[in-house]
Amino acid sequence: MPKKQCTRCKNWKACRKLTAKTHDWCYSLFYLEGFSLNADQSICLCNRCWFYLCNEKTRTGVQSENENTNDSNAMDTSVHEDQDQDQDQDQDQDQLTIENILFSGSSHKKCVVCRDEVNTTMITMPKPARLDLLVLKRMYAPHGVRCCRKHLWNNRLLPDVKINMDNRQTPMAKLEPTVLLNLFNDLLGLLQEASTAPRLDFMDPSMSNEDYLTWTGWTKEQFEHMFMLILSHIRSSSNREARNALAMFWIKLKTNLSFRQIGSLFNISGDYENRRKVVSRSFDSIRQVLVDKLLPKHLGIGHLSRSEAIDHNTSFSNEFFGKK
Ligand SMILES: [Zn+2]
Ligand SMILES: [Zn+2]
Repeated sequence: MPKKQCTRCKNWKACRKLTAKTHDWCYSLFYLEGFSLNADQSICLCNRCWFYLCNEKTRTGVQSENENTNDSNAMDTSVHEDQDQDQDQDQDQDQLTIENILFSGSSHKKCVVCRDEVNTTMITMPKPARLDLLVLKRMYAPHGVRCCRKHLWNNRLLPDVKINMDNRQTPMAKLEPTVLLNLFNDLLGLLQEASTAPRLDFMDPSMSNEDYLTWTGWTKEQFEHMFMLILSHIRSSSNREARNALAMFWIKLKTNLSFRQIGSLFNISGDYENRRKVVSRSFDSIRQVLVDKLLPKHLGIGHLSRSEAIDHNTSFSNEFFGKK
């Protein structure tokens, strides 16, 4: 978007647009400086000129004809540069500016995270990921923005993604009341979800490698690999996700916590007896899947051919086949 020219110093860094209705004192100062402006003509100002004029206002005591327009709400209603800059000032006043929240832009042509041009592998950013963007990166992305699949995991934003800030208009998010209301509802939903979520959740993308190792004895990558191998054989239930079921199995082996304790970690609903049953059943079904599907291919006697066993060069192969 082309920059606006500052009405006063003519540089192209204007980031405020003012009207006579809200900033009549600016018009008075402009008049004193020898500008001739119509009241229905808006003024664009760069930051330097804005602060200069604010100081001038204090120094010269130029009064605003509008009693209510004091300095602070003049700041509040000043329009920050963004796509909406051309909009009527009146319309802007209906929108709420959330400070410290950046606006991602509503372009559908670029990935909202890395700014790559849209290609066929990109998807419309799912709502959970947009909420993550807001909570983790303090950036608001409107419905419909696109992003690469690689930034997402399970519809959630990967917590360590780097937001590319180049070539981006980064005004504060200015939201219409209806949008804000929806956002508020979504965030409440997120909080509600969090209150019923497992206290230990292997669906959470921010679980670290260290967390995986500590609880399951496997690295994140190993766990992921194992999960992929058996995924098609385990079902998710309303009580627990398949991924968490696999985690429960390894937590039991690694820590020997009771099923009740594990049920508590995963925040399984119902009384302790129900919790115990859910975890114990998960444990059994995972054990069964591992025995049926994983062991024969990866650990059982048949997982190696004779020549592969010799190649392994272990004490076992040395003993049985002689040293290589
Ligand atoms: Zn200027
Ligand atoms: Zn991307």
